[in-house]
Amino acid sequence: MNLVQSPARACFGLAEATIDLGAVTANVRHYRRLLRPGTEIMAVVKANGFGHGAVPIAKAAVEAGATWLGVARADEALELRAAGLTVPILAWLYDASELMWLSDVDVSVATVAELQQVVSAPSVHHVHLKLDTGLHRGGSTPDQWIELTRAAAHYEALGAVKVRGIWSHLSHGDELDATHSRRQLEILRAGVALARRAGLEPSVVHLANSAGALTLDAPDCNLVRIGAGLYGIDELGTGLRPAMRLNTKVAQVRRIRAGEGLSYNHDYITPTDTTVALIPLGYADGIPRPAGTGGGVEEAGRPGAARAGAPAGVLVRGVRMPIRGRIAMDQFVVDAGDIPVEPGEPVTVFGPGDQGEPTAAEWARWAGTIPHEIYTGLGSRVPRRYEEADR
Ligand SMILES: *Cc1c(COP(=O)(O)O)cnc(C)c1O
Repeated sequence: MNLVQSPARACFGLAEATIDLGAVTANVRHYRRLLRPGTEIMAVVKANGFGHGAVPIAKAAVEAGATWLGVARADEALELRAAGLTVPILAWLYDASELMWLSDVDVSVATVAELQQVVSAPSVHHVHLKLDTGLHRGGSTPDQWIELTRAAAHYEALGAVKVRGIWSHLSHGDELDATHSRRQLEILRAGVALARRAGLEPSVVHLANSAGALTLDAPDCNLVRIGAGLYGIDELGTGLRPAMRLNTKVAQVRRIRAGEGLSYNHDYITPTDTTVALIPLGYADGIPRPAGTGGGVEEAGRPGAARAGAPAGVLVRGVRMPIRGRIAMDQFVVDAGDIPVEPGEPVTVFGPGDQGEPTAAEWARWAGTIPHEIYTGLGSRVPRRYEEADR
């Protein structure tokens, strides 16, 4: 089903994000085809599934073959368990005070101090020891690794903890050139060998994220952590499908004379008589303010509107209508020129791009960011609706 295809007025409220769960399952299958046989997939659904809704995305990914779920925080893991998801979940950022809730969730451990907190928690936890192989953001430093693995083996022998995984995170995962990644894999390999020597027998070893999983051949690893790729953020252009479409409808239309200023501070002055349409979404909904005129990103003397490629805009009646003036908290204005748009007409803010609508990747370029931030920034005022995958 495709809402925006219909010339009829859209039947939702002011705005709606539709999430094509079929795209998510297709993206998981895409990975399964490309990965070394036997490699398991951890579907990363942190930050509310990159804004798409953690539970529906997790269910779709598991149905398509993901055997793990990954989240940053404790409450994100608990939401998945409460929704009935039973596959193993790894959480990598939590507070020691939350461990009592996480008996059923694997947790990442990077230092002996963290290990001791886990060991003194009321239940026996599954842990994944994290080695810093070069990102230098978190994880055990290599010089503390032997001490960490020995302490973990000691506590494991006492039955106080179970080391289920060893892992690390790539620093240059989204680059085609895998030189950095290969170096990190070598360090991880050495770390795993040391852990085995200390007596540990991790059942999973994992390093790669979405892009790294496609550029780094890692026979040492049997699990990849796929976030961006699930949602169709196609960093390497391998044919993933964006799952989210953001729809709204024209709120008001008016004719404006040449020489009038539009929106706050009149950053845009109409060069000719024109028709402008009011779009009822703003930066509180995640429409990036820098994509508007005067939003802060300046280029070629013309703020916002003149960056490389198509100007920032939305699709109405099959036509890209450019944003004029500043994006406000709840609304912005587009230029319809002489096209006779009417209030209530469907507007596609972004989607997969196959009907001429902008993609989240384009919005990211207009805003000087990455599509991840466009998706995670989608506000809570925008309801999410799910289109089920065909079975
Ligand atoms: C977010 C995250 C991922 C997923 O990365 P993508 O590039 O979105 O696939 C994997 N691992 C960790 C530790 C993360 O924080």
